[in-house]
Parts: sequence; structure tokens; C-alpha cells
Amino acid sequence: MDKTVQDRPSSSFNLALFISFILLGINLAIIYIRIDQGLRTIIADVFYPIIDFLVVASLFMVAKHSGIQSRKSAIAWGMMALAYFVYACGDTIWAILEVVLKQQPFPSIADGFYLAYYPFFLVGVFMLTAKPATSGEKINTILDIGIVMIAAVLVFWNFLIGPIALENVGEPFLYQVILLAYPVGDLVLFGALLLIINNQSEDRDRRSLLLLSGSLLATIITDCIYTYQTLLGTFISGSLLDIGWTASTLLAGLAGISHWAASQSKDNMAKTSTSRLPSRRWIMIRSLLPYIWLVAAYALLIKGGLTELPMSFLSLAVGVGIIVGLVLVRQMIALSENRRLNVRLVSMDKYQLQAAELRNANQELSIEIAQRKKVEQKLSYDALHDALTGLANRNLFLDRLGQAIESRKRNSKRSFAILFIDLDGFKVVNDSLGHLVGDYLLIEISRKLKELLRSSDTIARFGGDEFEILLDITDGESRILAIAERIQAAIQSPFLLDGHEVHITTSIGIIQNITEYDQPVELIRDADIAMYKAKATGKAHFEIFEVSMRHQINSRLEIENGLRKGLENREFQLYYQPIINLDSNQIIGLEALLRWLHPKRGILLPEEFLSIAEESGLIIPIGDWVLNQACMELKAWQDKYPFLNNVSVNVNISSKEFSQPNLPGKVVSILQMSGLSPKNLKLEITEGVLISNYSRAREVFSELRDKGIQLQIDDFGTGYSALAYLRRFPINTIKIDKTFIDDIGKNQRGVGIIRAIVAMARELGMETVAEGIETGEQLSELKNLSCGFGQGFLLSKPLDWETTERVLTDQRRN
Ligand code: C2E
Ligand code: MG
Ligand code: MG
Repeated sequence: MDKTVQDRPSSSFNLALFISFILLGINLAIIYIRIDQGLRTIIADVFYPIIDFLVVASLFMVAKHSGIQSRKSAIAWGMMALAYFVYACGDTIWAILEVVLKQQPFPSIADGFYLAYYPFFLVGVFMLTAKPATSGEKINTILDIGIVMIAAVLVFWNFLIGPIALENVGEPFLYQVILLAYPVGDLVLFGALLLIINNQSEDRDRRSLLLLSGSLLATIITDCIYTYQTLLGTFISGSLLDIGWTASTLLAGLAGISHWAASQSKDNMAKTSTSRLPSRRWIMIRSLLPYIWLVAAYALLIKGGLTELPMSFLSLAVGVGIIVGLVLVRQMIALSENRRLNVRLVSMDKYQLQAAELRNANQELSIEIAQRKKVEQKLSYDALHDALTGLANRNLFLDRLGQAIESRKRNSKRSFAILFIDLDGFKVVNDSLGHLVGDYLLIEISRKLKELLRSSDTIARFGGDEFEILLDITDGESRILAIAERIQAAIQSPFLLDGHEVHITTSIGIIQNITEYDQPVELIRDADIAMYKAKATGKAHFEIFEVSMRHQINSRLEIENGLRKGLENREFQLYYQPIINLDSNQIIGLEALLRWLHPKRGILLPEEFLSIAEESGLIIPIGDWVLNQACMELKAWQDKYPFLNNVSVNVNISSKEFSQPNLPGKVVSILQMSGLSPKNLKLEITEGVLISNYSRAREVFSELRDKGIQLQIDDFGTGYSALAYLRRFPINTIKIDKTFIDDIGKNQRGVGIIRAIVAMARELGMETVAEGIETGEQLSELKNLSCGFGQGFLLSKPLDWETTERVLTDQRRN
């Protein structure tokens, strides 16, 4: 369908072209067929108006159609239609005068119409040609046309106008004017032709302008020949010259149809729009034209010098001079234009250089952006993940919790649970096997958790040994407890880390349903409370959160704040547990044990707050207070009861306290302040401290030992230390852990170990204290095993200050 639309206009033009050839053929036939001269004139006189009106009709049609696209183009073609209309009128009148009225048609009213053709046609052409784009181009166009026009005037004047004027000097004035009007009109047409040639590049339809130029050229040439023949008196109406006018008329009509066809055909439009720029050859010819005319004018000047011409030699010289001047001006303009272009070219080079630099900079920038993006991605990953295990961190977990709460609100079928997991005794692993093994353990545990859970569940590590799990339990709540059990079983099975077999258990707090929660932090808090409950009630199991727990157990944060306040408000107290010489039953020492007199919860044991004190760093001021208090209280008793001068006080020193840069200095200054003798102070340190701070521990131990302070290894046997280590440290006493004492009477393993420890200690010149003696059987067995000292509920529970004093003084009395 498209094809037919495109083909129709071009086939219309072809048809018009075909008809034009036929008409030209008819015209030739009219001229050459052997018929009577009168009849030939009649046929010719009828034939020409018909052609004229045909062209007028087609041009009007073109004008009307052009109106759709541009008013200017419509007026232009309208003007040309009018030009041919008046011309047609002229031909008609000519025919009437010649054929009907049998009058001489020249000069007559017909000439008035013929002459009217020129201005109309000129206006038409003028409007059709586009305006030059720049003022420079405009000046150039004016100069080009000026040069050619002056040369043309010189030619016309000397060969047509001048001779005609001279020939008809005696004729009537009107006759002379009409006679001269034709060459003048042709001169004007020539100007129009130049206009088309010079502005041709801007027009959309080159073919139509070419045809128009052809029409103009045909008119000018035919007119010139006609005028010349008239001058010589050789012109005959109905001669071959008529073909020129017919061709001119038909060409104008064809130009119109071509324009119409071009504007109709999209294909053509596209083609012409790409061929809008004039060809190089055409530009060269156009720029050479002024020089050709200059040469022609010069030749005319020479001819004027040789023979008599209608124009005086001076006028001719002035005319040629003007042409030379205009050519010079044009030349200068061209030069300055060239210079300007050159400058622009140079600056374009500069721009190109700048553009290349910019491109480079751009490239570097995009590389940098890509790198930054990577860093950003890493940063945002780090911001949401735990660096050690790669699990979600607190932030990400809180975010997921928030989403879970929202989705639960939207869809009541969705259900989530929370598991808050805390390892029991992780500190022991960390302290005794070192942080590296501690880290391996955490990584292994997170791997096991990932294996046990689904990808829709979120596992997070909040730091330390705490893991949180958000379970998607849409498929049934029974899964929660099953998972908790599976986790516990998985973690309970031993880990082989760096050559050590590590045993660990977990306490888990569970929130089964998140329905009542609005804020993720509330969920965490309650899960934490449930986990604490699990810890407080024997560890290694899970507890499901109940609202009543909130009142029983405070969250860590509350404990931390409470500890801070407790320090300020002197809520701490020391209890003392006597250490007995198992041979003599005498109290040889007191272990200072910290108690917190909580304003709401009563007396709290260390296990309820010590780990939080450690984590928050509050253990340092608390430990200072303990050391100071223990020294002062014992010193006060000794001052009061001098027989207690050999009784010593045991103070527990945690790993964090031990890592203080100036522990020996601090201990010494406390001793000095209290006035207690260094030999009455014994520091208890767990095995872990020796291992994780091996070289530092040796230094500190030696320093303390040099000051006369005694050192004891607490909870011996629970850590992972090699016995060989003991030799390298200046240790006075080993406290055998309660777990071995518990084995007495139950299995032989404990007894064997105790025996080995006692023997080894003796070898190393150390003393042994059995911890946690609860039964008589244990006591007698320990005596059998030659364990020198003992401590335990059987002998005495930890006692408050007054009771301790009483027990101490009672002993003396006994
Ligand atoms: P520890 O140093 O091994 O202290 C002995 C713990 O065993 C005490 O618990 C004591 O009450 C308990 N105990 C003694 N005999 C028996 C017994 O026959 N049966 C049972 N079941 N338990 C017995 P307590 O006072 O709760 O202290 C626990 C731990 O807290 C201590 O273990 C010690 O490691 C730490 N601790 C206590 N006070 C301080 C302190 O002032 N500073 C530091 N850093 N740690 C302290
Ligand atoms: Mg102790
Ligand atoms: Mg102990």
C-alpha cells in the first residue's frame, strides 16, 4: 500500500512529462506540416492558449496544494500561475486580434499582458528561493548576482537594448517602450535565474527548480533571438522559435508538477532532505561564474575599443570597473571568511584535545566510581554482617525482625519465632585455649546453625557468644522446639579445634509467637530474658518466654546500669569462705566472694552479674573495690585480733583485671594503703589467664611474687591448660575444681585425677586446696589423698562480715 502512495506522485510527473513531449511534438507538427500559412497561424494561435491554460491550471493546483505545507510556497506558485495566466491572456488576445479581427497583433494590448508576465514570475521565483542562512552568505549572493547582472546589462545594452533603441528612434514612444520592455524583462528574468542558481541549495526539490531554471533560460534565449530577429527583420510568426516559448511554458508547468510530486512522496522528501547540500562541483561552478562574467565583460570592453558599440567606451569601462571592484570585495570577504574558518578550525583542534582529556578523565572517573561502588558494597555488607562468622549482625537482624512484625500484621497466617542462644562457658574456652580457638568455635557453631536451618530463617550473631535466630514457622509451631533441641544437640557434640577437643553447651531463650510485639528491640529483650532464665536455672536447656519472667529476671542492660549505680551506692559486700587446713582444721585463709545487695532483688551471686561486669568493663572498678575492701577488712581484723596475723585473704582476679597494664603496681599501692602485709594476700587466677596471656602472665606473676604476694590457680582442671605450664609459673597453690571433688564416691576417675594433681603439686613445691567439699566422704577421701587444704559448704558456707569475724574469733577460743 505504501508503495502505491509513493508511486502515484512520480507517475503523475512522468505522465505530465509525456504529455509535454506530445505537445512539443504537436507544436513541431504545426510548424513543419505542409499546410496553408493562414491555417497554420490559426492552429498555432488556438494551440498556444490551450497549452498556456493547461499550465495555468496545473500551477494553480500546485499552489493550492502547497498551501497545506507552507503559505509562502503557495503564494510563490500562485504568482507563477498568475504570470502564466496573464501570458495566456496575452496569447488569447493575440489569437483574437490575428485570427478573428485580422489585425496586426504587435504592438497591441496583448503586449501589456505579455509584459505583466515578468513581474509576476519574478515575485514567484523570488519567494520560492530560500533566504540565505547567514549575513555573510547574503552579501556573497548579492555580490555574485550583482557581478553577473552588471555584465548582463552590459551585454544586453550593447547587443539588444541599445541596437533596438537606435533602430527605432523615429517610431512612436509606446512602440519603443514595448519593444525595449522585452529585453529589459528578460534581463529581470535573468536576475531571477541567478537567484535560483545561487540559492538552489536551500530548496527541497532540486528538480523543480532545475525545471524552473530551464523555463527561464528558454524564455530568455527565445526572447533574445526573437528581439534579434525582429531587429534584423527576419522573424516569422509560426517558426521554430515558437518551440522555445512552448518549451518555456511546459517547463514551468512541469516544475510545478514536480514540486507537487516531491511534496507528496515521502520517499522523495527523505531523499531530498539528505541531498539538501549542493554538490562540490556545483559550488565550484557557482563560485567561478563571477570570474567568467568578468572575463566576458572584459572581452566586451576590448570589443568596445575595437568597434563602435551602443554604449560609450567610458560607460563600458566604468561597468567593467564596477565588476572588478565587486569581484575584489567578494575576494576579500572570502579571504576573511577563510581566516575565520581557520581560527575556528584551530579552536576546534583545541576542543578536540580538551574532549580527549575529558574522555580520559571520564574513564578514570568511571573506574573510580566502580571501585567506590565495590568499597561501598563491602561497607554496606560489613555494616550488616558479623565480620567473624559472616552471619547477620544486630542491625540486619533488627531490620528483619521489623519486617517479620510487619508481615505478621498484614497476614495473620504468617508466624515467626525467635531463638536467643548463648553458649555456656564460652569464656572458659576463650581464656584457656586462647581467642583464636574461641573464634574457631564461633565459626564452627555458626556453620552448624546454618546447616540446621532453612534459608528463609535469619541467623545472627550479636557479638560475643550470643546467636539469634528468626524462624519462619508458618508450617507449624512444633518445629520451634524441635529446632531448639537439634541446636542444643549439635552444639553439645564435641568440636575438634586446633588439636583440642572442646565441649560446650548452650542456653536458649525462645519467643514462640511475635504477635504481641510492635518493636524488634522488645522481642530481643524478652528473648534475652528467657535465655537468662535458662542460664539461671541450670544452663544447657531452653526456656520459652512468659510475661512473668520479665519481673523475675532483669535484662543485661538493666544489670549493667544497676552495677554502675551499685558501685556509687555501695551496694556490694564481701562474703568470706574459710579455707581450712585439713590436718589441723584451722582456718588458714578466707576467700573473698563478691555479693551484690540488689535494692529490689536481694543478695545476688556473682554468676548473675559477673559476666556482664566483665563484658562492660565494670569489673575493673568493682575488682578494685573488692581488692581494697578485702585488704582493709582483714587488716582491721588483724589489728583487732593479732592472732589472725597468719590468716590470709584470697581475692579472685578475672582475666580482664589481669590484663590491666599496671596490676602489680595497683596491688602494691592497695596493700600499702591498707597496711596489710603482702604475705597475707593471695590472688586467685584461672588457668585460662595463664594461657591467653602467656608471656605477660609470666611477667606479672614474677613481679607479684617478688613483692611477696602469693598466687593460686583457681578451678584447676576445668580449663584446657597443659600441666607442664605450671612449672614455668611461680605458683604457690592449686585449687582443685569442685567437679573432681564431686566425683568422689561416684567414680574413680575423679579420685585418680585428684591424686595425680596432689602428687604433681608436691613435686613442684605447691600446695593444694580442694574446692566445694560438701560431704564427709569427700572430706575423708581428700584427707586420705593428702590434699592439704579444703573449702566447701561442709566446712563453711561463704559468710557475711559479722559471721566471719565470729567464726574467726571462735576458732581462737576453741
Ligand atoms: P570461685 O573462685 O571458684 O569461688 C568459689 C565458689 O564456689 C563460690 O561461689 C562459692 O560460694 C562456691 N562454693 C564454695 N563451696 C561450695 C560448695 O561446697 N558447694 C557449692 N555448690 N559451691 C561452693 P560464688 O561466691 O558464687 O562465686 C562464684 C565465682 O565468682 C567464684 O568462683 C569466682 O570465680 C567469682 N567471684 C566471686 N567473687 C569474685 C570477685 O570479687 N572478683 C572476681 N573477679 N570474681 C569473683
Ligand atoms: Mg576463687
Ligand atoms: Mg573456684
